[in-house]
Amino acid sequence: MKVYQVLVEYVASKLNRPFSYVYNGDIPLYSRVIVSFNNRQCVGFVIDIIETDSLDEYQKKTGVIIKNIDQVIDEEPLISEELFSLAKKVADYYLCPLISVILAMLPPSLKPNKSSLHGVKVAFDTYVEALPGATFDNLTVRQAEVFYKLNQGKILKRDLSKTIVENLLKKNKVRLVNIERNRLKLESDKKYQLHELNDEQKIAYEDFISSDDKVYLLYGVTGSGKTEIYLNLTRYYLERNQKVLILVPEIALSYLMVERFTSLFDKVAVLHSSLSDGERYDTYRNIKKGEYDVVIGTRSAIFAPLDNLGLIIIDEEHADTYKQEDNLPYYNALTVAKMRLINGKLLLGSATPSLESKARALKKRYHELRLTKRVNDISLPECEIVDMSDYHNIDRNSFLISKRLRELIKDNLEKQEQVILLVNRRGFAPFISCKSCGHIMKCPSCDTALTYHKDINKLVCHHCGYEEDMILTCPKCHSSKVYKSGFGTERVVDETKKLFPEARILRLDSDISKRKNGIKSVIDKFSNHEADILVGTQIVSKGHDFPHVNLIGVVLADIALSLPSYKANERTFSLLTQTIGRAGRRNAGKAIIQTYLPDNFVINLAAKQDYDTFFNKELRYRHLLQNPPYTYLTMLILSSEDEDFLVEKMDEIKKYLLFHLDINQVEILGPSTMFINKYLNRYRRKFILKYKDFSLVKDTLITLQDIISSQSKLQLTIDVDPEQDY
Ligand code: ADP
Ligand code: ZN
Ligand code: ZN
Repeated sequence: MKVYQVLVEYVASKLNRPFSYVYNGDIPLYSRVIVSFNNRQCVGFVIDIIETDSLDEYQKKTGVIIKNIDQVIDEEPLISEELFSLAKKVADYYLCPLISVILAMLPPSLKPNKSSLHGVKVAFDTYVEALPGATFDNLTVRQAEVFYKLNQGKILKRDLSKTIVENLLKKNKVRLVNIERNRLKLESDKKYQLHELNDEQKIAYEDFISSDDKVYLLYGVTGSGKTEIYLNLTRYYLERNQKVLILVPEIALSYLMVERFTSLFDKVAVLHSSLSDGERYDTYRNIKKGEYDVVIGTRSAIFAPLDNLGLIIIDEEHADTYKQEDNLPYYNALTVAKMRLINGKLLLGSATPSLESKARALKKRYHELRLTKRVNDISLPECEIVDMSDYHNIDRNSFLISKRLRELIKDNLEKQEQVILLVNRRGFAPFISCKSCGHIMKCPSCDTALTYHKDINKLVCHHCGYEEDMILTCPKCHSSKVYKSGFGTERVVDETKKLFPEARILRLDSDISKRKNGIKSVIDKFSNHEADILVGTQIVSKGHDFPHVNLIGVVLADIALSLPSYKANERTFSLLTQTIGRAGRRNAGKAIIQTYLPDNFVINLAAKQDYDTFFNKELRYRHLLQNPPYTYLTMLILSSEDEDFLVEKMDEIKKYLLFHLDINQVEILGPSTMFINKYLNRYRRKFILKYKDFSLVKDTLITLQDIISSQSKLQLTIDVDPEQDY
């Protein structure tokens, strides 16, 4: 008798264990079933099968009445043994429910939850095929013509005349066959060719292949030919029948990389969240069937069901998009990649490696590979810093764009060169306030300021997406003195139009990326020189090749520095460095950084593209403050609809932590407020734990999780290795 161990679909630490069920028949491991749980039907996921001689004894031993599985959904396992053991490692490391990791691994229509059941299924195309041995006897001329073509190969039924097909079927000349359709069609025009590697590239490549180390950091300035190394290594692994997985921060920004891979290799799949459910389903199943050799994708592609994985490449390894922070599991794809390495190697690439990765390379825990020169020796752009607090630098024509930046834009426009302006904030104005009473328009469920978006004339919450119509009068005092303060991409576009009425201007931010093909069409237009100025958020700083851009303007560098994260300096440095790196891909260009903090070391070192000095300085700060890479962090986020109750509980939890943790080895920070103190109508507070070894906190956290999971008014979310809000 088989007892099936089933995880239910609900993500809750209280339910983070399998429940026993029986079934009259065989069910594959790692597949979905429908079970009743707490008098409700839900989807479950089979994670173990236990053989028992007597069900009665099993029930007696475990003390539970075992119910029947109502229905079996899948005929074969959805994930491999390897992926299941990876899921367990991830759940164990991030202290999150195992089912949340399995949900993250699978595409929407295969997820073990209710909504997947109405999801897409396999799509078929019907073909007409000539029956072997059928002759031309007894056919009309038109039927014979079609039959002749069918003898060369099968044809899609919908491409043929319906009556002719019917007649051919009647006369027993042909048959219909259904063939699975792959809804994802990758076009490749086979135009990229591998270059002969230059000396530096050759050394890095050979070094990688000949070493036995597991993890490598490829540190090379923008345009030094890192992608070329990825391509060469991929070829090397494919020749040895091993597969390659490549992670990129965002697909729309990596279309150049995707183009290079699809044009060089035959079996390349792309996995990312803006595919349709059908496309994701087909791609997932085909990867699993072994039909692809290379998978390129964003964060969750780290779970792609490739077997015989030889190489994982993570491009722009410093990017913040590799950390999931809005949904369980709160994983980092780099950490998961290391867990996934069994026989293979991991290559992390960046022009501005994260401090953690670079520090590990220094300690020889990662094998470092260097590319110091740009291909073709094009020099990096010359960068000037403009102090916006100095009135000599601005005038009444514009407070946003300095005189110097204006002069250079004008110069570039006259020479028919292109300009990129970086504005690290979308929308028109980040604050709408009343001049009479001081009232600030806030999101009703997050308690943060709403941003005015001019193109839709709405106020938008950038955290939860809440929208309302723009106001004409203050809702509190009815004054009409409603004031739009601050600026975002939309306002800079307006201002630039005013200053340069003849210029063609495009905007690129995540509002544009919500439209289908939004990013791609803007980038294509700009690459084809159909516009002169591109105004955008950090999206403009990533891997595009714009040969005619000779000027980069950073409208206000300070915005990035105020990010609520201990990584704010690092993020600002890489944002500025990578953006400036966009200028002068063909010949040396110019860059301007506008700031109120002209002496800030991050801004100055970014202007000089001096990563090494930045790294040493910032590392000293991290040491001083005992932040990673000198310690590890875990954030405990507690939330409740009742603020007073929450505040009270925070004190209790603090006492609990003080009592159970070794405070000589674990620093407990908090309780403290969060950057967003109220989110979706729940109040939030946090603790930060700092330690050198996870085992110092792990057991205490698991027990705390258990205690809190039984309290209905309080919720605990654990974020291991958090990257924001501290
Ligand atoms: P990165 O990924 O470091 O920014 P890329 O690999 O995109 O750099 O290379 C920048 C440009 O140089 C690309 O247009 C690429 O085709 C070209 N390139 C790279 N390696 C070579 C080489 N060995 N010889 C000639 N051109 C190269
Ligand atoms: Zn008012
Ligand atoms: Zn909100």
